[in-house]
Amino acid sequence: MKPTHIDHIGIAVKNLEEAITVYERLLGRSCYAIEEVPDQKVRTAFFNMAETKIELLASTAADGPIAKFIEKRGEGIHHIAYAVEGLPSVLRELESEGIELIDREPRPGAEGMRIAFLHPRASCGVLTELCEKG
Ligand code: ZN
Repeated sequence: MKPTHIDHIGIAVKNLEEAITVYERLLGRSCYAIEEVPDQKVRTAFFNMAETKIELLASTAADGPIAKFIEKRGEGIHHIAYAVEGLPSVLRELESEGIELIDREPRPGAEGMRIAFLHPRASCGVLTELCEKG
């Protein structure tokens, strides 16, 4: 695979509204979108910086993946998302190379993106998301 750029960096937060205030001050710009992604049991807030975004993620359920992450590791960087072209075929290619996937098929993400996660074991401990405009 050959990603075109880093689409976003996902940061797990406990309280979305508080985190938005922190990041609006930190980055000197307003959050431009807040969106709930039921598939991942999260509410997300996005900040734009050229081609790359910062995605704040707060859990909407006690058993959601972000709630579990914060329970284990506290708030912090949760994943890096690379933009790719032809996500389904990229997943086939990675699978054929023996790279461990969490999602074998794309699923719906925020902003109408199609996304898939690789296992952190496949990328030196960093949860890696691949995404493509839907
Ligand atoms: Zn993401």
